[in-house]
Amino acid sequence: MEENFAVVGAGIAGLGTAMALAREGRHITLIDRDPPPPANVETAFETWERKGVTQLRHSHVFLGCLVALIRKKHPRLHAMLREAGAREIGFAESLPPLLRPAYNTGKNTDDADLAFLFSRRTTLEHIMRAYVESLPGVHFITSARVRNLTITRTNGKTAVTGVVIEQEGQPDATLSANIVVDATGRNTLMVDWLRERGVAIEEERSPAGILYFTRHYRLREGQDEPPRDAIPGAGDLGYIKFGVFAADNRHFSITLAVPEIESKLRTAAVDPKTFDAICAQIPGAGRWTDLKRAEPVTKVFGMGNLHNVWRHFVKAGEPVVLNFFAVGDACMRTNPLYGRGCSSAVMHAHILGDVLDQTADARSRAIEFDKRSRLTLRPFWDAIVKQDLGAIRRAHNEQQPGYKPRWKARLIKSFAEDAVGPATRSSVSVYRAIMKAFHMLETPTTWLKQPLIVLRVLLTWATPKRFKRALYPPNPGPGRTEMLSSLGLIQSV
Ligand SMILES: Cc1cc2nc3c(=O)[nH]c(=O)nc-3n(C[C@H](O)[C@H](O)[C@H](O)COP(=O)(O)OP(=O)(O)OC[C@H]3O[C@@H](n4cnc5c(N)ncnc54)[C@H](O)[C@@H]3O)c2cc1C
Repeated sequence: MEENFAVVGAGIAGLGTAMALAREGRHITLIDRDPPPPANVETAFETWERKGVTQLRHSHVFLGCLVALIRKKHPRLHAMLREAGAREIGFAESLPPLLRPAYNTGKNTDDADLAFLFSRRTTLEHIMRAYVESLPGVHFITSARVRNLTITRTNGKTAVTGVVIEQEGQPDATLSANIVVDATGRNTLMVDWLRERGVAIEEERSPAGILYFTRHYRLREGQDEPPRDAIPGAGDLGYIKFGVFAADNRHFSITLAVPEIESKLRTAAVDPKTFDAICAQIPGAGRWTDLKRAEPVTKVFGMGNLHNVWRHFVKAGEPVVLNFFAVGDACMRTNPLYGRGCSSAVMHAHILGDVLDQTADARSRAIEFDKRSRLTLRPFWDAIVKQDLGAIRRAHNEQQPGYKPRWKARLIKSFAEDAVGPATRSSVSVYRAIMKAFHMLETPTTWLKQPLIVLRVLLTWATPKRFKRALYPPNPGPGRTEMLSSLGLIQSV
């Protein structure tokens, strides 16, 4: 039977869904409330109006699982991205400096999958869009907002049958579809529309505990990026986290993540002068934003209301709704700090593509999609929720004068800082094992089940500090009191 798909939202998940589904004989309509992209990647960055994607101009990095999926399943898109200036930073280049001389490039072919894609989000989306437009059976309706779902109810089961589309100056139109995909992102309303019709979708929600501040820069003529040396481009100072996001076409951005509890810092960080003053005091960021090297090209974008969210479309083994699939942020959201959202969204879309190919039965499709999504993506969600709750606790403790962490907290900190960290900087095998989890190619705990890796980590932990001094990163920046007083946010001490 020929199937007809309505994919609502042409962001990363919607485009990923079209990539996974498109083939001769299928009809895929992508509907998006925002206008189509401008002519090229530079105008897309400067002017593409995306009210539907508030995070569009925040820093984005794209992980190995996404790069590998694109390279293996969509080689033409891979080539288009490279041509547009997106850069891949492979395993060898990302290795800690001490490990580079001994690394044998040809030995482990799996390392090819451990590559980051560095690109502005607008560039990735612009090029993905051009690729999807060229796929068979795909059709876009833009500047068109879906404002409701059409449903039927048979034998107590609700099935979605289409969407109601609103376009300026035109009467509402109904588009019927065999399958409706909710790819409308973090602010999806579809769950509310279903609830109004008696379909309850359970939701788990946990705070990310941070606010995001991003500013974009461009390297000046004749200037290069700083070397990839021992000074890390990302770090956690307790009261603030920072990350440098290299991108395409001589662009890069810096993100400062401020704990919600840091009320003065979070109010101040959106001011470009304060933002740059903070960066200047953090060596890993300041050498990028140095005005001799780069010029700022945007204001500081701020964003809050960041949560980890997981929605359940199967309850007690039974789907709550048929012929309806939520993909990407509409189903699951994670703290952006981990850079997993787009990779998860495209993987999620491809899980859907595989499941729809596997069976035509509506109930089995819903159950299988839920099962495979949980199997592949849930371990990452669980790990992030746990880490965020720990970080929120630490940010709170940071503000308590004379706070002394308990033995369990000290042990966890020591395991991260004196065992895992130094082990990743002294052993390619440990670094590879950890990076497989980072790039979402293995679950976050797979490495803990590998005896040789665990042994190496424990031996590193047991090694006295004086013998492993070279394996610690340099101090990431000033302490809280020093930073806040330098910014005039607290009285100097
Ligand atoms: C601050 C921040 C930084 C991030 N950094 C990273 C990162 O470094 N790496 C990473 O992988 N992920 C990152 N993410 C996560 C990533 O942006 C999301 O996971 C990803 O965009 C999800 O894709 P999506 O298609 O589900 O949603 P979106 O990309 O938000 O797309 C939703 C689409 O639906 C459309 N839409 C919405 N409502 C309607 C409607 N009613 N009718 C029609 N169209 C509609 C919108 O216009 C939009 O095009 C970050 C997120 C945030 C908030």
